Amino acid sequence: MRRISFSLSFILTLSLAAVFCAAQAAKPDRQVAVTIDDLPAGMADRLPAADITALTTKLLGTLRDQKIPVVGFVNEKKLYKPGEVDQRIKALQMWIDYGFELGNHTFSHASLNQVGLKAWEDDVIQGENVTKILLTQHKMKLRYFRHPYLDTGRDLQTRRQAEAFLVERGYRIAPITLDGWDWMFAGLYEDAKKRNDTALQAQIVKEYLAYHDAVFAFQEQLSTKIVGYEPKQILLLHASNLEADHIGELMDVLRKRGYRFITLEDALSDAAYSLPDTYVGEEGTGWIDHWAISQGKIPQGAPKFPQWVMDRTKELHLSTGQVSAEPTY
Ligand SMILES: [Zn+2]
Repeated sequence: MRRISFSLSFILTLSLAAVFCAAQAAKPDRQVAVTIDDLPAGMADRLPAADITALTTKLLGTLRDQKIPVVGFVNEKKLYKPGEVDQRIKALQMWIDYGFELGNHTFSHASLNQVGLKAWEDDVIQGENVTKILLTQHKMKLRYFRHPYLDTGRDLQTRRQAEAFLVERGYRIAPITLDGWDWMFAGLYEDAKKRNDTALQAQIVKEYLAYHDAVFAFQEQLSTKIVGYEPKQILLLHASNLEADHIGELMDVLRKRGYRFITLEDALSDAAYSLPDTYVGEEGTGWIDHWAISQGKIPQGAPKFPQWVMDRTKELHLSTGQVSAEPTY
């Protein structure tokens, strides 16, 4: 009896090992480039410069320690707070000093779909001044552009004209394929942190990590369906206290899914980013949606954003006017 049970457990161990090996072998080599928008900080108009510096130091420290290449996209309007301009520019300078790259996200975070082509082009140009100086000092070029709200144009003519304008000014558009709406969690987290509500902070973080994991899983499946394989992905995040405090945990979620971290330049070398893309719409969205819709397919079954986070954000906005319930992308 003892001998039989030994054999059974031996066989069981062997089969488990085989299953484990198969799972390991099947694990795809996933790659992702991390991008962070709304620099120097999403809520820069409500945060004092000292907080922005602290947030930036913490965020960049983690990313540098973990050797994760990042491009940060700047809204220079956020630099012009009387008495704080120098310190705010210094926070931006830190990104380059730490070895990261900066791109343009327009001066005032203007939506191409809202302000029209001419005003938007002016906003792109106005958004270049400080960033260009900082990059030039490090012999770097301003070469990436990210559309605010991911709004790429309401009609194809505007979209193509805007793209031609960006190319003319030396930009490569930075698409995104992974987006877990971290800005929405970040607003609520900021408020909970201010009130020292650690229980709520922990709840928000748990939900933020779980939702991102679900989004990653969904986009991996969708990209296989639409592109035919999982392309080098591009993740959209936002400069916030939530990311400063917890980006390391989010990077662990990616690692667990088999991802390694690559530069935006490397990601853009993937042929997927040359796929036909005729997407136009009132609402900005990610590029896997662009490609799907260009193929006449409507992506379905995306994970639902946690309702309580939406509701709490709305309540907060109504009661204090402190945190925007509108998308900030
Ligand atoms: Zn943005």
